[in-house]
Amino acid sequence: MIALVISDVHANLEALDRVLEDAATRGYDEVWFLGDAVGYGPDPNAAVDRMRALSPRIWLAGNHDWAALGRLDLAPFNPEARRATEWTSAQLRPDVRAFLETAEPRVEALDEGLTWVHGSPRHPVWEYILDAGIAAASFEAFATELCFFGHTHVPMVYAEGLDGVERSRPAADQPMVLEAGTRWLINPGSVGQPRDGDPRAAYALVDLAARTTTIHRVAYDIAAVQDKILAADLPPRLAARLSFGW
Ligand code: ZN
Repeated sequence: MIALVISDVHANLEALDRVLEDAATRGYDEVWFLGDAVGYGPDPNAAVDRMRALSPRIWLAGNHDWAALGRLDLAPFNPEARRATEWTSAQLRPDVRAFLETAEPRVEALDEGLTWVHGSPRHPVWEYILDAGIAAASFEAFATELCFFGHTHVPMVYAEGLDGVERSRPAADQPMVLEAGTRWLINPGSVGQPRDGDPRAAYALVDLAARTTTIHRVAYDIAAVQDKILAADLPPRLAARLSFGW
């Protein structure tokens, strides 16, 4: 079984479409979406429609999704994120809003050894797993062998070994073997707003039979998204950052 793992799409339809095309040429069986369908980008309804058409098995809520639904206090958001949230909230169609309301930020399938969270297992909406220390605490907060997370917008893999937590940054297109007897935290990176200095959209293919995870990166028409962001009167920095992957 091969899963297409996508996260942090952030209403970036151009990036999402290129990811789905690229993943389709490689082949997959089901889709796991780790949250933040909307926020920052100019196509919230279309991005949700596109993903819903794939009937994802897993669809998590992210902090930006809940913020757009009015379910979170916007105080922790920076001014640009807040402005984008208010814009997004005004754009959402009632049916899209109703669908997003059904998502939770953490789901697990104990019998399959799988957990999915947006931020972290401890605090699935807000916490960022940014280093081995937070990863170590995170391993205490779920029971399965594998846990998939998003929210940081950086592809990353943490392994819980005998000598503590090991962090590795997976290279694109290089399958990483998920050795048995070790527990793993895996982040596929961000489709719509990468923050690792590589502006290409990121996603992962996880092969549960072969026990591998592979990060793929795809270039997309960044200028087209930037034009839409500016035309929508969203903060210009949200357009500029896409060029740099930050
Ligand atoms: Zn995000």
